[in-house]
Amino acid sequence: MRTPHSRLLRRSWAAALAAVGSVALLVSGFVATPTSAAEAGCRVDYTVDQWPGGYTAQVKVTNLGPAVDGWRLTWTHADGQQVTSAWNATVTQTGASVVAVNADWNGSLATDGSAEFGVQGTWSSTNPDPTDFALNGVACGGTGTTPPPTTPPPTAPPPTTPPPSADCGSAVVCSDFEDQTGTTPSGAWQFAAPDCQGTGTATVDTSVAHSGSRSLRIDGSAGYCNHAFVASTADLSSLGPVMYVRMWVRHTTALPAAHVTFVSLPDSSQDGRALRVGGQNGALQWNRETDDATLPAQSPAGVAQSRPLPTGSWQCLRFAIDTTAPGLDTWLGDEQIPGLHADGVPTQDIDEQWLARTTPPRPTALRLGWESYGTGDDTLWFDDVAVGSSPIGC
Ligand code: CA
Repeated sequence: MRTPHSRLLRRSWAAALAAVGSVALLVSGFVATPTSAAEAGCRVDYTVDQWPGGYTAQVKVTNLGPAVDGWRLTWTHADGQQVTSAWNATVTQTGASVVAVNADWNGSLATDGSAEFGVQGTWSSTNPDPTDFALNGVACGGTGTTPPPTTPPPTAPPPTTPPPSADCGSAVVCSDFEDQTGTTPSGAWQFAAPDCQGTGTATVDTSVAHSGSRSLRIDGSAGYCNHAFVASTADLSSLGPVMYVRMWVRHTTALPAAHVTFVSLPDSSQDGRALRVGGQNGALQWNRETDDATLPAQSPAGVAQSRPLPTGSWQCLRFAIDTTAPGLDTWLGDEQIPGLHADGVPTQDIDEQWLARTTPPRPTALRLGWESYGTGDDTLWFDDVAVGSSPIGC
């Protein structure tokens, strides 16, 4: 265990702002001896600030090998630490294993080039630094070189990328439903029951809203033909390369064990069949209509990496859908949900099945509503819905 003085213990963010800066820890300085040209040496500087139960870590990865175009840094949290968010990289944790993938703008590392990103997480009993960093599969570990003398870092809170703005004014879809003056959705939002029609309904609700005084209400029932959707008339087929979706959703009944859908995206890469967001086994999931693949896999370990959709309160749900590569991310509030993350690396119980289909999705439209394939009733409200080509905050 590290000596206490090597960490800045933070009891609150207010204290953090007042505190003298943290101490940089060089936990792994190592020049690998490449056994082939493909292997790259690397060094990781992992600087932790922690407070009871939580921490942030600034991670600087330096490429000591040949230049790389795209990097993937892995490590293990063996003591129960859980990464909950990240900036300047996409970071996911499955069990104890953590994977950080470069952001669009910091993937190219020349020899001796470095990239920095940050993570925030939780810890319980102890929070030792990881010891098994690997860059693109090549271990950075080792006893390594003597750390260079540390210089006092500036007094500042941990660097963070500001969250994206909730303002969606320039997005293709940016709707608070306040312009819906009737009871029936109209104008840019049209009722749709694509396959058959039963008792499902869609209305403009003036008594429940996340913003203003209006929202979209769906009363959906069990049974396939009782589905009801409201479709945006906006053409989304040119958005990208990453399509960002933000919505506030409120619902009444916990997600059932059976499969249900509440967001349906017609997908031209599936000949118009849908990329769907809904639930199964009580937790959120993605589903692809053509092959019925799910994300995460519906194993107990996979479902555990997803989250329920809380009932009775407004929830901010966001997606990032890569239309040119296998990349899919999902946030519930500020949490990036590990089980609802697909990348180019198949992970058992998460995206192994999902990545069996290599053609990236190409959503063309957005439908909000309810569809059950067996059991499952729900009443849902949607508000402050946005779709664009750049990140949109909550
Ligand atoms: Ca509203």
